[in-house]
Amino acid sequence: MQLKQLTDRVFYSTHRKEADRPALGYINGKKYSLMVDAGNSKAHVELFHEAIAERGMRKPNFVAVTHWHWDHTFGMHAAEGVTICHKKTNEKLKEMAQWKWTDSEMANRLQTQVEIEFADTSIRNEYSRLAEIQVVTSAVTFHETMEIDLGDIVVELHHIPSPHSEGCICAWVPQERVLFIGDAIGVDYYNHCSLDKDKLQALTKAITAFDFTVCVMGHAEPMGKQEILDILSSLQAR
Ligand SMILES: [Zn+2]
Repeated sequence: MQLKQLTDRVFYSTHRKEADRPALGYINGKKYSLMVDAGNSKAHVELFHEAIAERGMRKPNFVAVTHWHWDHTFGMHAAEGVTICHKKTNEKLKEMAQWKWTDSEMANRLQTQVEIEFADTSIRNEYSRLAEIQVVTSAVTFHETMEIDLGDIVVELHHIPSPHSEGCICAWVPQERVLFIGDAIGVDYYNHCSLDKDKLQALTKAITAFDFTVCVMGHAEPMGKQEILDILSSLQAR
């Protein structure tokens, strides 16, 4: 796994297309550290722990999960820090924690359109043994915003409206002007890849308000503010 340094205190691991592993964030405070998103499996989290240990940094004390999708949450059980997410994300995780991970149950969820083909395929790519899948809920939930003081650096978590999913949050690091937004800029794969323009507009408004220089997304390379705003406006015009 490649861990890249964005600023003095902010790092991220690069996303990988195979098995749909998203980028993971790391904010290294003097007292505590925070991870953004929990990855898609124990193996993913372990690689991340190794990558931060190589740089002499501690395992995350907090793990903020951007939204409920499997690739961002199935590593939660292997994370050692306090997990945090939006209230709606936890409701969905609670539901998914009841799911059975067998061929027949997965096929049944596809049939009933509870699950989508893309996630089903990617999950099978990540897990050679489906029985290893563990879904857990977060220790901490919030609705609008919360602030975590890592010692000499503060991370703000904000709920953001998004066409991609309910319960999306971003992690804003004002001191380093870095914004982590998960998959907030994206279509809703669980609703026929629809793109709700009202939600997109609300997201654009929310993102515009942050004075960031770099934005880290789940499945793309980090971008500057203008690039992000250009993407949002082209999606709006679609
Ligand atoms: Zn997603």
